[in-house]
Amino acid sequence: MESTGLARFPWLVHGFSVRYARSGSAGTSRRPRAREFNLGFTPAANRGEVERNRRRFLRALDAGAVPASLHQIHSAAVWEVSLTGNSAEHGALRYLPASNPPSAAHESRNEPAGDALITSEAGILLTIRTADCLPVLIVDTELRVVAAVHAGWRGALARVIEKTVGEMRRISASRPENLFAVLGPAIGRCCYEVGEEVVDAFRGQFRGSDVFFHKPTTEAEPQRSDLRYTLLFHTQAPPGHRREPHGLHLDLTAVARAQLLASGVRPSAIHASEYCTACHPELFFSHRRDGARASRMMAAIGVRA
Ligand SMILES: [Zn+2]
Repeated sequence: MESTGLARFPWLVHGFSVRYARSGSAGTSRRPRAREFNLGFTPAANRGEVERNRRRFLRALDAGAVPASLHQIHSAAVWEVSLTGNSAEHGALRYLPASNPPSAAHESRNEPAGDALITSEAGILLTIRTADCLPVLIVDTELRVVAAVHAGWRGALARVIEKTVGEMRRISASRPENLFAVLGPAIGRCCYEVGEEVVDAFRGQFRGSDVFFHKPTTEAEPQRSDLRYTLLFHTQAPPGHRREPHGLHLDLTAVARAQLLASGVRPSAIHASEYCTACHPELFFSHRRDGARASRMMAAIGVRA
């Protein structure tokens, strides 16, 4: 899937993966079979298959870029990424902690631990994996600086989106009025029931946080979206998915929008996918719906080399 808002910039490459990809080529199979397209090294995943899927996703984006990724820990840790001359560590990339460096407990041999990536260099593709959490892609359309943010409720509570915009200002002198942000597919307020401790935590962090929470209705909410499909991906008509209302539901997109607005991003420069990952099993993986074995989708953004 791609954002119509971001597709306006020819120098930009971006995309949101979906649950199924076509498998089998037209030459070998009369009817191509839909295949799950997992992009996360989850405990249940076949590592080789995930690696093949990642290569395929990058090829589909036609990025020709070095992919950057993080060991995601639901934090507000932001990393700045740049290209190095040598390819010894983390591929050909250098990661600099921009803010809130995580404790050593989260260290991973393969990827730095954190939840937001920024780069001002062309030829790097920032990637984030999600299965309900909100992927946020941000671009400075003047300076061509990009950021990718992984924001679940814990990251949103720690203001990971606000901190990322702050780091874009600090590192690259980005001006908020030149930023454009896309909120990708995430669990919607229709399905994201949370406990009282989450409501309380937001009350302690955000004035007026009550607007982020809803008593759900049984009415299906209309789905309008900024996203459209690329030809690569398999699509079909969505069946409904609705549960009886119970507790309070969190609107992650509203939290993200509030943080972007607080950072000075213009309201018209914030596009939301409005797709709920839990409501659309034909399109997305969902941790809430599929449980701990849920596979991962990927959101990616970069400036063409
Ligand atoms: Zn939903």
